[in-house]
Amino acid sequence: MADIPRAHAGTADRACAPVQAQSDALRILLKGTAVVAGLTHIAFLSLFYWAEVDAMAIINVASVLCYVWTFWLAHQGRIGMCWVVTALEVLAHAILAVWVIGWASGFHFYILLVIPVAVITNFRSLAIKVMLVSALTMVYLGMDMLLLRRPPMVPLPDTVIDGLHYFNVLGTILILIFLAGYYHYLISKAEANLREMATTDPLTQLRNRRAVIEAIRDEELRMQRAETQMSFVLCDLDHFKQVNDTYGHDAGDEVLKAVSRVLTEGIREVDHLARWGGEEFLLVLPGAGTQEAQLVAERLRQRIEALRVKVGHQELRISMTFGVSALHPGETSENTISRADQALYAGKHAGRNRVVLGSLTPEPLLQS
Ligand code: GH3
Ligand code: MG
Ligand code: MG
Repeated sequence: MADIPRAHAGTADRACAPVQAQSDALRILLKGTAVVAGLTHIAFLSLFYWAEVDAMAIINVASVLCYVWTFWLAHQGRIGMCWVVTALEVLAHAILAVWVIGWASGFHFYILLVIPVAVITNFRSLAIKVMLVSALTMVYLGMDMLLLRRPPMVPLPDTVIDGLHYFNVLGTILILIFLAGYYHYLISKAEANLREMATTDPLTQLRNRRAVIEAIRDEELRMQRAETQMSFVLCDLDHFKQVNDTYGHDAGDEVLKAVSRVLTEGIREVDHLARWGGEEFLLVLPGAGTQEAQLVAERLRQRIEALRVKVGHQELRISMTFGVSALHPGETSENTISRADQALYAGKHAGRNRVVLGSLTPEPLLQS
């Protein structure tokens, strides 16, 4: 039947698509983080300036500058560096804040948020990930042991400490919800990309064989419920090998793309078109009987015959042969497609560039 399409340059680009989408999303996330964190630290800066805790005001000036820097790094696409600066700011800020105004202020919670980020991030080696997570755990436990009961350097009124504490608890919860939601979004996006890659032919962007078989299964179920008809049209480019041999494989690829466009434009929204194999396409027409399918096939045949594909300074003319069959009660779609295939084969033998209707009972396949 059909040849297996060769690997195409486009495949590599498509394979990179999820990675690209992920890094764009990461860049937006880091920029957003820089803006939100920068503004929060400006608010802290004002609070500590008002409370006359100079050490904390200075720490917050440094933090705001850090987030201006991380915004710029994210904007430049320097994602790795941006992560490092963000994580170091969170760590330094948490340690210094707890040191200066005490454990009860709750700034230490932010260190815990760096752990899921370190686990999710794509470090090249697992060892780095393990080391980072272990280091963060040790820093947190160390701070807990040293600073939990130690009186703060600058004691603040209970109301201020309580306010900071609940602000930081709520902030931590909100960031956790955001991180979980963002991770879920990344996974769904990657899943959708992979699914599209697994079901789309990279050259023509049509569905591939696997995807159309799924669509046929769905249509069969719908047919059983609604008792409607379904037809198949299998079509194959005539003398396509000659196109490749004469004009080169790239010219052949251009022909396949042009043919895909013509076929796509010539069918209804409810129909399914797939690249069945090399230069062979399958059209599934839900609700259509033999006559309607034959008319569609004839219309497509004429459009392909009228098509001119520009290759360099030349215009290629091509033709296709079509095999048509309608699903009969009690018949499997595999059998119906096989009848369309036999009709196509008969059309090739009869001189190509024509539409042939499959017989009701399939001819036994010739033994080789
Ligand atoms: P027929 O009229 O009997 O169908 O003859 P044909 O030359 O079209 O059929 P044949 O099976 O002899 O050759 C099919 C050719 O299709 C050979 C194969 O290299 C080419 N082909 C299959 N997939 C691709 C592809 O993705 N790109 C290009 N350029 N050629 C392809
Ligand atoms: Mg073929
Ligand atoms: Mg062919």
